[in-house]
Amino acid sequence: MADSQQYSIDTSHLDFDPNEMREKYTRERDKRIRKEGFGQYQATAGEFSNFIDDHYVEPGFTREPLFDEVDVVIIGGGFGGLLTGAHLREAGVKNIRVIDKAGDFGGTWYWNRYPGAQCDVESFVYMPLLEELDYIPSERYAHAPEILEHSKNIAKKYDLYKDTCFQTEVTEIRWDESISRWIIHTNRGDEMKAHFVAMSNGILTRPKLPGIPGIENFKGHTFHTSRWDYDYTGGSSAGELTNLKDKRVGIIGTGATAVQCIPHLGEAAKQLYVFQRTPSSVDVRKNAPTSPEWIKKLKPGWHQKRVENFNFSLTGGEPDKDLVGDGWTDVANAAKEMQRDKPSLSADQKKEALEIADLKKMQEIRDRVNTIVQDKKTAEALKAYYWQFCKRPCFHDEYLDTYNLSNVELVDTLGQGVERITETGVIVNGTEYELDCLIFATGFEVGGSYTGTSGYDVIGRDGAALSKKWDEGLATFHGMYSHGYPNCFFLGFTQTAVTANVTHMLNEQARHIAHVIAHGVNNGLSTIEASQEAEKEWIDIIEQHSGSAEQLYIKCTPGYYNNEGASGNRNGFFSGQFGGGPGKFFKILSDWRDEGSLKGLDIN
Ligand code: NDP
Repeated sequence: MADSQQYSIDTSHLDFDPNEMREKYTRERDKRIRKEGFGQYQATAGEFSNFIDDHYVEPGFTREPLFDEVDVVIIGGGFGGLLTGAHLREAGVKNIRVIDKAGDFGGTWYWNRYPGAQCDVESFVYMPLLEELDYIPSERYAHAPEILEHSKNIAKKYDLYKDTCFQTEVTEIRWDESISRWIIHTNRGDEMKAHFVAMSNGILTRPKLPGIPGIENFKGHTFHTSRWDYDYTGGSSAGELTNLKDKRVGIIGTGATAVQCIPHLGEAAKQLYVFQRTPSSVDVRKNAPTSPEWIKKLKPGWHQKRVENFNFSLTGGEPDKDLVGDGWTDVANAAKEMQRDKPSLSADQKKEALEIADLKKMQEIRDRVNTIVQDKKTAEALKAYYWQFCKRPCFHDEYLDTYNLSNVELVDTLGQGVERITETGVIVNGTEYELDCLIFATGFEVGGSYTGTSGYDVIGRDGAALSKKWDEGLATFHGMYSHGYPNCFFLGFTQTAVTANVTHMLNEQARHIAHVIAHGVNNGLSTIEASQEAEKEWIDIIEQHSGSAEQLYIKCTPGYYNNEGASGNRNGFFSGQFGGGPGKFFKILSDWRDEGSLKGLDIN
């Protein structure tokens, strides 16, 4: 996003004034900024802890505590943990234990079973290990049950169920110097030992609630989307929520989750009120069953090639062909088109080209609302006025049509949010909407420390807590290990490179971590630890680009991408990432592995 008020590249072809639009974006943003920032939210703890109960397991699970030893403990059974397990198995590591608080593998897809849940990045690039499992997703954007099943199949294929501890929460991991092992403490009384630990705690895992006055008073039925209560609504992830036919339902939030479940609520409820603070941008989806003809044409190696092609296209590269070619890459492709054959464009003009491409795309998305939503006031309220990537872009072919149903009402809070919750309903602009059921589609905690959101601390050499070390700022080598914490590996957004296709990032991290751990296990090494120098060098590399993501996002409408519009939070979603982009980051990792000397690691 360029800083200058006027554009220096040609904007005469636009059918709107880009400067006016930019000002409108700023006005829309400013009216949503709240001084409390992340503090506006209410944790799912204390009297709200029932919002995170696991509905998918039988109550009353018990087991004896474990005091045994394994080569590798993987914390987290979502895609990050599964991929680490898969790569470790490929590298010959046998003695692996996965720990997860859920009742099965799947991570995000274990918890998020709300109606309509679906991957929003193409399943042929989002779902990992497709060739290894000889599996082709049944549709272009697979639905949640299929992705959950795929997770379980990865665990089966790589024999990860054996030894796994489900329904187990890690409470602390502590390095025991005398035996060079980690001791893993859990809420089941375990004190198991592990030679190596890989942590894939997940990225958006802990549901949050809005701190709306009166939230504790609501007497009707209520739940968060990531713990959908099918006993109450009836139906399944495929919809058919028949128990709602005589219910007045309210949903707070209109983010990526709400966009997918609202069509099912609208279809089923006697009356649906959607309480909106900021509209999502909702572009076309065009989902389709996978074509058997297309499958026949796939050649070995197709999957990794497609995954890399998507990442390359999305991050400004120009592959021979944009293989995925869906709404994710439209803006990047349009910007590239504007820059083509214009070598004289300055860096600022290239930024302008990207901004203009985005303005055009968003105008197209707003125009689409007019073509679908019949009521003019509702249509206007559903238009998003911000850059497309300020929030998770949404793609859906039924969401907007839902507002044409006579039992569905959009309650626009004009950027201010719900005013108050009462025993019987929700108040917006002084009007009370009476409800039988109130659903929170209000997202997940972001912005705490790494150890804060994972729920446990990592106590390394000399009793030093990782939470304390990282309070001063993240400190890692390659984002995956930290000095003072030998044999301990992190997956996630820890000084690595963020991608829209999160499983791609996790797979590259898992491949790398498994390479290092397997080297340790297979060669009988005692400890592997990031050297202080290597860590310092990596932090310097990260700091060269520090703030670039924040600078970009600070102009955005508030949300979890930009610390709710507040600046200077070092623990924000995009803080401290490698600024060179994911492609370059993955190349650094593969070059490092190829070089072979495990440079930067102290090995004993
Ligand atoms: P989000 O954090 O994106 O959305 C939360 C919603 O709650 C926003 O619309 C927010 O409004 C609204 N809200 C919060 N407080 C209030 C309030 N006081 N009054 C009214 N509204 C309020 O959560 P989601 O669960 O939708 O999505 C989280 C992430 O999960 C996505 O960004 C995406 O990364 C991932 N996801 C992925 C999917 C996939 O891959 N298929 C599907 C769904 C989600 P405001 O915008 O104004 O803050």
